Amino acid sequence: MAIQSIRLFGDPVLRTPAEPVTDFDKELRKLVKDLTDTMLDAPGAGLAAPQIGVGLRVFTYYVDDQLGHLINPDLDLSDEMDEEGEEGCLSFPGLSYPTPRAIRAVAKGFNMHGEPVTLEGTDLMARCFQHETDHLDGILFIDRMDPEQRKLAKKAIREAEWFGAQAPTFKLSPHATHGKAL
Ligand SMILES: [Zn+2]
Repeated sequence: MAIQSIRLFGDPVLRTPAEPVTDFDKELRKLVKDLTDTMLDAPGAGLAAPQIGVGLRVFTYYVDDQLGHLINPDLDLSDEMDEEGEEGCLSFPGLSYPTPRAIRAVAKGFNMHGEPVTLEGTDLMARCFQHETDHLDGILFIDRMDPEQRKLAKKAIREAEWFGAQAPTFKLSPHATHGKAL
């Protein structure tokens, strides 16, 4: 097990677009393992490399008993949206809000051995692919909320105990209040 500390909102790494993976080497396999261990420990339904301070386009997911990872993801989204689904994020401990997302997503990318993979997800799985790929672009779920929800979320963030309290190397294991944090 190599559980890493999860970066919280306010850490600039979460706003920094991640770089594509070019070397499918031992280090990448260790990153996938660290992400998986950290996600399962939290527990969360997904985790992107920037959330543990690594600026590479890699995420892991654990949705509907399906555990996996994707590298250099490229998404194709349905026009049909789920406007009401609740979403959380391990970088915003304890907070979840309705966040509009496409209902279906096809995610193309690579596995850690450099083999091309295509994943198809609906509902929570599709939501997870979108949330994690956003992390790789420095986009956070608050950016996807409608303005009314975003206002509520920002107020809750300002009042959260964790906000502004962290140093970049702060060792903390935030525990999500439910299984849906990403
Ligand atoms: Zn997240």
